[in-house]
Amino acid sequence: MVFPPIPNREYHEHFMRQAIQMAELALASDETPVGCVFVHSGEVIGRGINGTNASLNGTRHAEFVALAEIMSRHPQSILTTTDLYVTVEPCIMCASALRQYGIRAVYFGCLNDRFGGCGGVMKIHSDPGVDPAYPVYGGLFREEAIMLLRRFYVQENEKAPEPKPKKNRELKTEILPVTVTQPTAAAAKSNMAAARAGELKHQMA
Ligand SMILES: [Zn+2]
Repeated sequence: MVFPPIPNREYHEHFMRQAIQMAELALASDETPVGCVFVHSGEVIGRGINGTNASLNGTRHAEFVALAEIMSRHPQSILTTTDLYVTVEPCIMCASALRQYGIRAVYFGCLNDRFGGCGGVMKIHSDPGVDPAYPVYGGLFREEAIMLLRRFYVQENEKAPEPKPKKNRELKTEILPVTVTQPTAAAAKSNMAAARAGELKHQMA
């Protein structure tokens, strides 16, 4: 996938920087470092970090954590004029929820090439459907988003009772360019099954 230019990029970088800060918070809490902010009329109305480890609940993705906060204080309809900034492309589950809630637009850092629901694997945001499609813009602070994930998996491997061979624990710093991937139907199906397991380990590759 080639990320198209993002109009008014500086404005969006401002909010993605806040999402990156949330992901850093997740990393410091031993959670997969994914962070997000929801922005309405230039103001952050909800923040989230991935919380699947502490809660042992595979649905506690950053987006769902933030959505719960928003909907405790606002009507659900606020989401139709709200944008999401999230460090990793929303997964299939979150992409579908965001569409059902009528999110206005989604900005993300790196692709989620195993479980992505906004073009990485499936196109839940734009496939024909009952709910209106939403636009997605990828690549904002992509390298930072990937490096956070790599740092997390290096950290996890070091804690494992039987550490993996040393080569797997080294922090890779090379970021490969974005490539076009068209998954086959079979791959998409197995990816969906993997998505249900709530893992994101592909980002180590
Ligand atoms: Zn998700």
